[in-house]
Amino acid sequence: MVHIVGAGPGAPDLITVRGKELISQADTIIYAGSLVNPALLEYRKEGCRVLNSAYMTLDQVVEAVRETEAEGKMTVRLHTGDPCIYGAIREQMDEFDRLGISCQVCPGVSSFCGAAAALNMEYTLPEISQSVVITRMARRTPVPERESIASFAAHGATMVLFLSSGMVAELAAELMRGGYGADTPAAIVYRATWDDEKKVVCTVGTLAERAAGEQIRKTALIIVGNAVSQSGYALSKLYDSGFTTEYRQGSDTEGKERK
Ligand code: SAH
Repeated sequence: MVHIVGAGPGAPDLITVRGKELISQADTIIYAGSLVNPALLEYRKEGCRVLNSAYMTLDQVVEAVRETEAEGKMTVRLHTGDPCIYGAIREQMDEFDRLGISCQVCPGVSSFCGAAAALNMEYTLPEISQSVVITRMARRTPVPERESIASFAAHGATMVLFLSSGMVAELAAELMRGGYGADTPAAIVYRATWDDEKKVVCTVGTLAERAAGEQIRKTALIIVGNAVSQSGYALSKLYDSGFTTEYRQGSDTEGKERK
């Protein structure tokens, strides 16, 4: 059995209880060394084989899993954040299927959640934005044209940009081409939840200069939209004193002030 495990965004205590348990049982751990905190490997049992996938091809990863399976043992494939976001897990799971190796995914805390926590931020503020667009700039991995940054920017929703901190000037230009004003609030969170985390709150117009000033070129998320200001929103219906829910009878008083 292979377990694809989400390692969380960086801080070793942000792995799930299940993920930690799986690490402690694994006979082989293949971890994404470029982003996974190696401190997580300390949870492994004695004699566990550890491989860093940063130095491996897909075929080598699959081969290491196959060898472990042949001995009737268990592999943990440790991915950063949550494996469902830019984890390249489909291609691995297809190979495991082809070899008849069963596979299960254990979710993790994605870095986009870690970044929101670093900023004490709610992405979905009533009457500001109720949607979060997770996307990236095209680089060696292309992005379909219909998913251009500019086309998403036109919605004015909260956007979280992965894999794009090396091309912030181009990103800002695309955001503005799509309709975000230069004064739209934005933030950069570098290595969210790691000890050397950095966070910068700025605007779309100052993104490039602020990223350069902080020397941030990788392992960062860029968050864009009016939600970043965390103001001007309406109070939620859920906790509105005048609103009746399945669990609570509301009064007639409307409690809908703006913050
Ligand atoms: N599956 C991962 C994303 C992998 S893609 C997840 O759910 O988070 C790798 C990109 O994720 C990086 O280029 C960076 O944009 C982002 N990233 C990963 N860890 C991060 C962290 N701790 N802080 C900020 N961005 C991070």
